[in-house]
Amino acid sequence: MKIFLDPGHNYSGSDTGAGGFGLREEIVTFEVANKLRELLQSAGHEVRMSRNYVTDNVGNGTIASSLNERVSMSNSWRADLFVSIHCNAFNGAARGTETLVYSKGSDAAEIAQRVQTAIVNNLGTADRGVKARSELAVLKNTMSPALLVELAFIDNEDDAWFLKTRQEDFAKAIFEGITGERAGGIAELTDIHDIAWEYAYRGIVEDLEGFENEMRQNPNGRLYWLARKTLQFIRERNF
Ligand SMILES: [Zn+2]
Repeated sequence: MKIFLDPGHNYSGSDTGAGGFGLREEIVTFEVANKLRELLQSAGHEVRMSRNYVTDNVGNGTIASSLNERVSMSNSWRADLFVSIHCNAFNGAARGTETLVYSKGSDAAEIAQRVQTAIVNNLGTADRGVKARSELAVLKNTMSPALLVELAFIDNEDDAWFLKTRQEDFAKAIFEGITGERAGGIAELTDIHDIAWEYAYRGIVEDLEGFENEMRQNPNGRLYWLARKTLQFIRERNF
């Protein structure tokens, strides 16, 4: 399959994205798309991207030209699928993953639902569902089925943590949604703060700081070992 990946926004100029908690959307979208490209190419798919380097800018400086050029690159290559990757923002007041398509009941909507489910199950982000957004240029003007994945909210503290620490897992989940294949194993977990944070986020542990301190006091002890292995098990089975 010929898959066109569009890491949302430009590195500089008028079409830069949202930001929050030290993250910039145009950098996160590029990193996730770049990891996704590797996964798809290893599985035998042809991939092109609207930006090939994180510092690339598309278009002649206006937002409209940035969007139009992404669409025309994909159309002139005759891609089978167009996947745009973005981060959402809403003044910190919302969180979760959503996937946008031109219309419901389409081929794109079916793929979008699989991508949406894979992200929510694999990462544990809030499920905002698949939504029809017929006014968006990259969904309206693409000739192939097209989806726009809003990974998570960059201006929400919990979601920003996902965007910062789970870029590889976002890529793997989108890969799974597109291809129906499972992408490699989950990476070995080692960072004590990341582990403690995820237990707290999932509501398994209430006292994040206490839990983290206990592990830090004995990094070779049973608690750290068990917390690490259990979280790995939870992630691999999509609990
Ligand atoms: Zn965006």
